[in-house]
Amino acid sequence: MSLLQSSLSSLRRQLVAREISPADLVRATATAIEARNGDLGAYLSWDTDAALKEAEKADVSLPLGGIPLGIKDNINVTGQPCTCGSRMLAGSYTAPYDATVIQRLRAAGAIPFGRLNMDEFAMGSSTENSALGVTQNPAAPGHIPGGSSGGSACAVAGGLAVAALGSDTGGSIRQPAALCGCVGLKPTYGRVSRFGLVAFASSLDQIGPLTQSVEDSALLLNHLCGFDPRDSTSLQESVPDFTAAIGRDIRGLRIGLPKEYFISGIDPDVEAVIRRGIATLESLGADLREISLPHTEAGVATYYVLAPAEASANLARFDGVRYGHRAADASDLMQHYLRSRAEGFGPEVKRRILLGTYVLSSGYYDAYYLTAQKARTLIRQDFTRAFEDVDCIVCPTSPTPAHRLGALKDDPLQAYLEDVFTIPANLAGLPAISVPAGTVHQNDADLPVGIQFISRPLDEATLLQVAHAFETAR
Ligand code: GLN
Repeated sequence: MSLLQSSLSSLRRQLVAREISPADLVRATATAIEARNGDLGAYLSWDTDAALKEAEKADVSLPLGGIPLGIKDNINVTGQPCTCGSRMLAGSYTAPYDATVIQRLRAAGAIPFGRLNMDEFAMGSSTENSALGVTQNPAAPGHIPGGSSGGSACAVAGGLAVAALGSDTGGSIRQPAALCGCVGLKPTYGRVSRFGLVAFASSLDQIGPLTQSVEDSALLLNHLCGFDPRDSTSLQESVPDFTAAIGRDIRGLRIGLPKEYFISGIDPDVEAVIRRGIATLESLGADLREISLPHTEAGVATYYVLAPAEASANLARFDGVRYGHRAADASDLMQHYLRSRAEGFGPEVKRRILLGTYVLSSGYYDAYYLTAQKARTLIRQDFTRAFEDVDCIVCPTSPTPAHRLGALKDDPLQAYLEDVFTIPANLAGLPAISVPAGTVHQNDADLPVGIQFISRPLDEATLLQVAHAFETAR
């Protein structure tokens, strides 16, 4: 087994015992990237010399001391590119500061190393919307890794990173984790500061870890959470030691099965894996109960009004003046804006900006944006009611396994529909995790399937408890 496939706790033990050094870990990561990134396309860029310099100074007595972590290319790290997978920022923007999550990880001793590919501005579920390169599924070359944090999931599942950060607006951590076969956690909205994350849809975005195991997820989460005055949505809540949830049994824990999540549209092979997962939970003594989340059906439509609306506002700053791509030889200011944006943004980003501008425009605002806000409230209330009877919810992460690269290229609507199981947790602000549940054999490949757990606001501990019990039983 390669060093990069060790757990964080085992790496820590080896570092503290001086059996390995932080430089060994950086070199092992660089070697893996140089050997396999040409085929997999997980990383957009990496700076081995800079990471080795940090490794020299690393304090291995800190909780993540000397551990290199891959970073999605929409999180600012001082002096590094931050392209968001877009021509708008590639080659023209270098991050002038560290995001709060990076500051926190550095304070725990970690070394941010390498920039991971993503759908442009995090819009997509396949990483095919990146303007800067194709990322493969490491379990099944020729297939998508999922998205938008496809580079992060590919690197972690493919042995090119010990662990990585991603961001999740409608499923972008959980869905690629499910499709590649690793663990992805979206924290409660407000748990983790977004200061330094390039905003997509600010009422939904959260940063979280992609890891090889649930225990690693808990350990990283310990160092991501906490109040930050620079993010106005940051919660003033104490942060428990999430690793304390690891190893607790789930006997008697009430787990809800939403009946609306097991209806048509879900791939039968995926459903079979999830049903087996549910049987595993039962064998562990969990109390499985059917629940109803009646407004599930409205989730995708609600999200695809609200997220583009917010994106159209957030992306207005890319006008060729202060950041990013600037069109050459524009004749006047308006031409400068129009041409810089036309040249800098790719087709999916333009589609979202158009959709968002439309639903916010006068005459349509009430019909679309306001209606979507009301639907969001109903979806949130569904969960509040459900959590009166259960401690946690189980469902698939994605209705389908990874499809072949290019399969949905001309069908954005189908791609949007595949977010059906991940979107509700974002709309309701709830924490959720995807854990590997098995594989399905399709297209001559063994494609990973993820099972998803959703819990009450701020109750990541229960998520990690259930996810770890499940992972161990498998
Ligand atoms: N697939 C969803 C979208 O395209 C979610 C993306 C995300 O979570 N960043 O918007």
